[in-house]
Amino acid sequence: MRILILGAGFAGVATARALERCLRADEAEITIVGRDNFSLFTPMLPEVSAGGLETRHIVTPVRAELRRARFVLADVAAIDLDARTVEVQHSITGAKQTLAYDQLVFALGSVTSTFGIPGVAEHALPLKTLEDAERLRNRAIASLELADVTTDPAERARLLTFVIVGGGYTGAEGTGEWIDLFHSITPYYRSFSPRDVRIVLIEAGPLLLAGLPPAMGRYTMKNLAARGVEIHLGDAVTSLDERAIHLASGTAIPTATVLWSAGVRPTPVVRNLPLQHARNGGIVVNRDFSVPDRPGVWALGDCAWIPMKAAGEWYPMTAQHAIREGPALARKIAAVLRGGATKPFDFTALGTMASLGGRRGVASLAGGPVITGFPAWFLWRTYYLSRLPGLDRKVRVALDWALGLLFRRDIAELRVYTQRAQERAARDAGLDPEAN
Ligand SMILES: Cc1cc2nc3c(=O)[nH]c(=O)nc-3n(C[C@H](O)[C@H](O)[C@H](O)COP(=O)(O)OP(=O)(O)OC[C@H]3O[C@@H](n4cnc5c(N)ncnc54)[C@H](O)[C@@H]3O)c2cc1C
Repeated sequence: MRILILGAGFAGVATARALERCLRADEAEITIVGRDNFSLFTPMLPEVSAGGLETRHIVTPVRAELRRARFVLADVAAIDLDARTVEVQHSITGAKQTLAYDQLVFALGSVTSTFGIPGVAEHALPLKTLEDAERLRNRAIASLELADVTTDPAERARLLTFVIVGGGYTGAEGTGEWIDLFHSITPYYRSFSPRDVRIVLIEAGPLLLAGLPPAMGRYTMKNLAARGVEIHLGDAVTSLDERAIHLASGTAIPTATVLWSAGVRPTPVVRNLPLQHARNGGIVVNRDFSVPDRPGVWALGDCAWIPMKAAGEWYPMTAQHAIREGPALARKIAAVLRGGATKPFDFTALGTMASLGGRRGVASLAGGPVITGFPAWFLWRTYYLSRLPGLDRKVRVALDWALGLLFRRDIAELRVYTQRAQERAARDAGLDPEAN
């Protein structure tokens, strides 16, 4: 029996690891395909984008997480559900290979959604991948470098204006991290002071951290505003160009750096498959992750639209859920292979947490009160450090945090992202890399 898992992120790796435990080697051959040879711990990505953590410390090599499963470093190029084959293209050589399967698991995650707003794909910077984080940090530092040499006050003000779009987790955490970054590094620059840096957070809805307990959003708003962030609620972005971001209210904010964290959508690879898709493009599945009318095909994580027990509700796209869905799916596949029946997935979230930088955070534990300030921040760090895969990574991140108490953040502008990653980012954003 050949089980093929597409995507080596939270959901894919969790599924592969659990399958290794649930099934004997003679029962199934497990293969997992990922375009990178590491899985990325996204909850710590905002800290990487602001230089609070070393890039390498929040990734774990996929091969180190697996015991028996075979890992294929490749991009999924085409899927033939009738022939039960997947065409993959090696991430480095570009060589094509066809993989046949008996059971197929979609765990391909999501990409940043631009909602088709003019100029976003071209001028805003997402925060979804390691390259995104590195590029954001470089852009922020480059803007400070340019502001240091410009003699035009209006241009300097534009370069020193940093805009974050989207007041969800990523936007709120990214904003908090940027405050810390600028607080730490602006003293290196002689021609402006930390007070000259303007950070603007734009959210189309009426509250930050929408969908979470309102007290969390209110605390986040109070905390960020007290640290100097200009917050625009209920105002949507209409377009972006090289010099400014434009809002529905008619406001135009001159800026050179826009962090776009307004939402995600399932990866484009699954969009054109002859399957039922949800409004956001995700693969609609049954409560046991099986794809309707396609025996042996399953989907989970961000690329799936998974119904909850309560009618009309769906599981959110979070790492917390993806990690729980993986082992549940593995048990279901094992049951099917042994001729048994599957049970629906049922999981109650443990709670939600956001780190706001400045040793402040906000958290809501399931059924408990909202915790704010230092205790929430400490809880966030403790919990996510415990969830980071690999003891070596845990130690490295803990050391980064300890060193962060002693030293300023680094302003070396390293350009480590690869051409391959840039082409892929352009494709995900809906731009044709060949055209650039
Ligand atoms: C900045 C940020 C912060 C976040 N913070 C939190 C948090 O604090 N708590 C929380 O619970 N959630 C958080 N999330 C959400 C969380 O990261 C996602 O919900 C989670 O990653 C979903 O897991 P997944 O396995 O479905 O997708 P992913 O983890 O994204 O894995 C998908 C994998 O598939 C690979 N892939 C995609 N397309 C292809 C292809 N064509 N070929 C080959 N491989 C491919 C990707 O490279 C990736 O490795 C955060 C997300 C971001 C971006």
